[in-house]
Amino acid sequence: MDDPARIRNLGIIAHIDAGKTTVTERILFYAGVEHRMGEVNAGTTVMDWMEEERERGITITAAVTHLPWREHLIQIVDTPGHVDFTAEVERCLRVLDGAALVVDGVAGVQSQTESVTRRARKHGVPLLAFVNKMDRAGADFERALRSLRAKAHPGAIAVQLPRGAGADFAGVVDLVHERLLRWDAGALGRTIAVEPLPQDEIARAAAARDALCAAVAEQDDALADAWLARGTLAPTELSAALRRATLSGRLMPVLCGAALRNVGVQPLLDAAVDWLPSPIDLPPVRGRTPRGAQAERPPRGDAPACALAFKVFHDAHGDLVYFRLYSGTVRDGDVLVNARDGQRERLHPLFWMHAETREKRDTFGPGGLFAVPGLKRVRTGDTLCAADAELLLEPPVFPAPVLRRAVEAREPADRANLADALALLLREDPTLALTTDEETGGWLLAGLGELHLEVAAHRLQRDFRLAVRMGEPRVSLTEAAVRPAAGSGRAEIPGEAPISVEVRVRLEPRAEESVSLLIVTPPGAVSEALRRELLDPRVAAGLCGRQGHPLRHTLVSVEGVVVRPAQRIPPAELVVGALHAAVEQGLAAGGVVLEPVMDLTVETPEAYLTPILADLQQRLAEIRDVAMEEGDQRIVLARVPLSRLMAYSTAIRSLSQGKAVFDLRPAGLAPLRGASA
Ligand code: GDP
Ligand code: MG
Repeated sequence: MDDPARIRNLGIIAHIDAGKTTVTERILFYAGVEHRMGEVNAGTTVMDWMEEERERGITITAAVTHLPWREHLIQIVDTPGHVDFTAEVERCLRVLDGAALVVDGVAGVQSQTESVTRRARKHGVPLLAFVNKMDRAGADFERALRSLRAKAHPGAIAVQLPRGAGADFAGVVDLVHERLLRWDAGALGRTIAVEPLPQDEIARAAAARDALCAAVAEQDDALADAWLARGTLAPTELSAALRRATLSGRLMPVLCGAALRNVGVQPLLDAAVDWLPSPIDLPPVRGRTPRGAQAERPPRGDAPACALAFKVFHDAHGDLVYFRLYSGTVRDGDVLVNARDGQRERLHPLFWMHAETREKRDTFGPGGLFAVPGLKRVRTGDTLCAADAELLLEPPVFPAPVLRRAVEAREPADRANLADALALLLREDPTLALTTDEETGGWLLAGLGELHLEVAAHRLQRDFRLAVRMGEPRVSLTEAAVRPAAGSGRAEIPGEAPISVEVRVRLEPRAEESVSLLIVTPPGAVSEALRRELLDPRVAAGLCGRQGHPLRHTLVSVEGVVVRPAQRIPPAELVVGALHAAVEQGLAAGGVVLEPVMDLTVETPEAYLTPILADLQQRLAEIRDVAMEEGDQRIVLARVPLSRLMAYSTAIRSLSQGKAVFDLRPAGLAPLRGASA
């Protein structure tokens, strides 16, 4: 099992409630890893191990676990479904080699699956799909398949058919081998009866198998000839060709079952072994050397070691950094270099993780997922590599925090502990940020959404035993130049030897979110010392607008600096003060306050459409589309200021009697409308 060709690093992608946790629990049970079957409804699942998740019944923190299957090692990276945990999703996608989409057999592909799948395909992750809940009333495999094709992958192709549906769901037709699989309810689905196709299933299965062969043959010339000549394909050649087409991302095999009824889970594991890539099937990983040159490392055990820190986690046992090894071999006690800061880090001990339990191991090869305690300087997104072969992998890109809440310790004596705990949370999660409230001097914790901050607050209480008070959520406003404008500003120190600085700037809008500062004066007009002070990256990052919000999306060109008396060297604060005044004046002519906006997707039965739209109007939403789905489902797409979406989940529940579902995605910044939060 140390052979990388026998590893499958698998992610499971699903909309909340599609059944990801139930599928994963069944997988662990059938692989013999768990001797008891966990139930989401009873709060006993192994994968949702954080208490937070047990309470909420959702999966928040990606845990890694591993299991043996058909002499392969399957390592499951649990991907969260909730949009507030985008950073987790991005991080996991960097670590997985293949993923299975779990969709609800009644609802088909839902908005969160759609957005995560889009990202997975962008990362080139090969996919399988599992149409779950085929036992539910209204489950429809054909409809789910159409929605997979339309919303997840145009190459979705059935490799199975359900035998019956809803209350009559009785097993799975395996199209590759042309047989019927039935699960024994008494044995918790451990035993599978393999039977010839029943008479009434033969015609339907033959048509579906033809469609499968045609789809595969279209990708494979050699196979196309064989299929035309013989009119059929043997299971082994069909399976081998399906593997090639899945690895290249052209096809997505679709399976079905009902995890809760213990039906269909084992073939999903077979499919991961047969059709998803091993780490050595992947292209070499790419990055930059310390000199900035492009370089790559092949997924081989004898290549220089290169590992991505994809997660930093802190719990009662202390710190733990999770790594994905892309190339080379790592042994217990090895010293690797962090390509970000050049620090040497000793990896000892090496843990193989299974949800929250850990097992020591001596070595890991390409594709290995392991965790190391005590690496205090390592952050999420860092690359650790062999000292003589440094390579900086592109760190995952995370969205900027858009919502903040004041946070303070209930007991003043806890203030220092709170500072430590917050520092740890920030190392773990790059989408959290901490600032100081100018007015109160207190801390503001910023994140990607309400749930994100709420979970952070709960962790402070539970994992760090800190009693904290949280303020009301407030959106983070920013300011920006919307049209070119000039400004000048002056700052002075009066007194016996007065000194003053005058700065002239030109502001222009800029597509990138950050602020860029240039000095465009003629050579020699600004002294070297002044130039260095102005170009310190903290100066651009610290610029604010007229209302005191951070400046974004702006190019600041310094066109002139005049110091009086000319021979004096002004203190840095004076120069920066004059710059701030100049920027503020420029913004008076061409500036705007920006607020974060979200793209909202609501899926609702027609009956609730009118109240939902009326409510969105109140929230200053810009309705972009109302589409009709199959049945009487409607899909509303709208862009809404984040400040107007507080407690939206409660609102929509009462507007639709719990029937509508929604998804939110950050859509950047837009000019502030109305009197916002
Ligand atoms: P997750 O949010 O994607 O992790 O979904 P869960 O595994 O927590 O399942 C959500 C709900 O759907 C739970 O109440 C499960 O018992 C139920 N569920 C899961 N799989 C099935 C299935 O195959 N059939 C039916 N009828 N219900 C299921
Ligand atoms: Mg779950």
